[in-house]
Amino acid sequence: MRLYSRAGRFSITFKMKDKNRLPQSKGRLYVVATPIGNLEDITFRAVRILGEVDLIAAEDTRRTRILLHHYHVTTPSTSYHEHNKLIKSRQLISRVKRGQDLALVSDAGTPGISDPGYHLINLAIQNTIPVIPVPGVSAAITALSVSGLPTDSFIFQGFLPRKTTARMKIVEKIKEEKRTTIFYESPHRLRTALEDLLGICGDREVVVARELTKVFEEVIRGRISDVIDRLKGRKIKGEITLLLSGRRGPHTGSDISIREILEDYRKKYDLPLKDLTKLISEETSISKREIYQELLKLKK
Ligand code: SAM
Repeated sequence: MRLYSRAGRFSITFKMKDKNRLPQSKGRLYVVATPIGNLEDITFRAVRILGEVDLIAAEDTRRTRILLHHYHVTTPSTSYHEHNKLIKSRQLISRVKRGQDLALVSDAGTPGISDPGYHLINLAIQNTIPVIPVPGVSAAITALSVSGLPTDSFIFQGFLPRKTTARMKIVEKIKEEKRTTIFYESPHRLRTALEDLLGICGDREVVVARELTKVFEEVIRGRISDVIDRLKGRKIKGEITLLLSGRRGPHTGSDISIREILEDYRKKYDLPLKDLTKLISEETSISKREIYQELLKLKK
């Protein structure tokens, strides 16, 4: 099998040794990660598996066809997406039970991460079908790796709900989170998400990772208010992963501990209310609104 680079500058040939081929006993589900942009971000093993299975279940058959064509893979593909997952997953599982090998690929990245892959994988497990990972790229980890935010411990939130009440509820919970949070976000909801995060979590560090591994790749790092300013007047396009730094400083889950922090700052800094609010918000990631209201109460 030959692999070509996008620019066609080099090609790699590797033999399909018998020991590398899929073992004889069949009826497996391969969960295959595919690139999130740059077609070269795929493993040799993934290309081989895609070439050897009987069928590829693809979230976006058009996008997958480009990938398959690029690597000269001729395995047939069928669509498996959010709107047909209930019926299609049963049909796919019954094919696997009859002995066919199936590869699941998502639109991009690792199947099952914020996409309909989860449903099929779960059904395969319920039917005691071997589920085999073929790992590779995921947008969340790719963005985290270049974010510059703490990576020792993090949470993956996926997409925030579109409805305001549901979204606010989640952001309220995230406010207390000390770990880096990773979100997937659509370009037209990015501004709203940043404003919600600013209002509730305070002016923390964020990273907007846009179009990773693609021609217009961009990583914007800074305080939320800064990033909002820098995006002003811009039409935001492309695929976005958003990262939020965790809450710094002492735990401030209750009014009492916030008050203690504020009293501490008041003793240390003789500043006008507005400047003091800004300073505390920057240093503790508590929202300016919350600090300002508490400081007013303290003043009284
Ligand atoms: N399963 C995929 C994975 O593992 O990366 C994610 C699927 S989710 C439906 C798609 C979301 O991932 C996009 O809306 C965007 O938030 C993020 N994403 C995908 N590709 C990206 C890229 N090249 N740069 C930044 N974020 C990306």
